[in-house]
Formats: sequence, structure tokens, C-alpha cells
Amino acid sequence: MFTRKFIIVCLTTIMILSAITITGAIAQPLSGIKFIVDAGHGGRDPGAVGANGLTEKQINLQVAQALRNCLIEYGGATVQMTRVNDTYISLESRVNKANINKADRFISVHHNGSVNPTHNGTAVYSGSKGSSKSHDLRNKVQKRLVEMTGLRDLGANTANFYVLQRTSMPAILTEASFITNPKEEAKLRSPAYLWREAYYIYLGIVDHMGN
Ligand SMILES: [Zn+2]
Repeated sequence: MFTRKFIIVCLTTIMILSAITITGAIAQPLSGIKFIVDAGHGGRDPGAVGANGLTEKQINLQVAQALRNCLIEYGGATVQMTRVNDTYISLESRVNKANINKADRFISVHHNGSVNPTHNGTAVYSGSKGSSKSHDLRNKVQKRLVEMTGLRDLGANTANFYVLQRTSMPAILTEASFITNPKEEAKLRSPAYLWREAYYIYLGIVDHMGN
């Protein structure tokens, strides 16, 4: 009797463990999807610069690298970066890399700049000639980034940025906040804050791909 009960318990345990394994596989929401993550600027092109010297190229790369890790580790996606260190890469090379590799999505990470130091807010762009998929991706990432930054929602916008117009797959460009706002610049020096920014971009991508 005890042996039979024991066998049933063992079998039940095995079944539960199998179910968890299956669920674990399904929980990789971006499996089989190829991303290009593009850290804006680099090398001789610093991008926007904060009043206290923080450069956009530097934080773009940190967020892009964290985003790559989220996409791979949590999403199960395949990711290529347009740059992995402080080097200058032309816009044309960035786009070519995405098009040649037939990426499914292109995510360009930037931060905004303004001559007005009080200016701040969150914006995400898709191309003005972009597909409905690119606009959907932009809307979902925008929603998540506003949730994370708590800053003014500058709206989901379209723009004729080179990397958005020339890429042959749905593409977006994120501007989570303004590096030229000294309060924001201080926050952007925190690796934890930059990691959260990347994670919320990731969540927006999952929201979009889940459809
Ligand atoms: Zn930029």
C-alpha cells in the first residue's frame, strides 16, 4: 500500500516538474526573434552632453547592453549590437547590419537634449514611413517607459530619422529622458536606473510581440 502510494506521489511529482519545464519554455516570449540593438552615437560623436559632463553615447551603450541581456536572458531572443564599445559607427553601417542580417526588429537607444535645462520627458519614435507594426512597437515601449520614468509623456511620435527610414524591418528609437536636465543627468549616472530603463523597453517589446 505504502509502495503504491509512494509511486503515485513520485509520478505526480514528475508530472508537475515536466509541466514546470514546459511552462518555462513557453515563458521565453521572444524565442526565435532576431533583434538589432543600436546604441546611438559613439567615438567622436558624443551625442547630447549633460551640464556635468555625462555623455549620451556612454549611457546609450549601457542601456543598450542591458537591453541585449534582457532580450536574451528573459526573452530567449537572438541579439546583435551595432556597437559594443565607444567607437564611431556611421548610420549607414548600422542600417546595413540590420538589413543584411534580416533582423525582425531594430531598437535604437538614445537620450534627448535641449538648450532648456528644465526640459524633460519621455518620447519614442517610429519612422514617418513606418509600418503599423513599427507604430505598435513604439506605442507599447512608450507606455512602459513613461511608467518607469514617471516623466512627462511627450507622446508617440514619428520622425524621418535615418535609422528609422532606411531599415527594412519595424524600427523604433527611444528617448527615455533628457540628459541635459541636471536632475535627470544625476539619475542617469546610476547603473540601476539605466538597467530599469532597459528592462522597461524590454517589457514594451514583449507587449508588442505578444500580439
Ligand atoms: Zn541621440
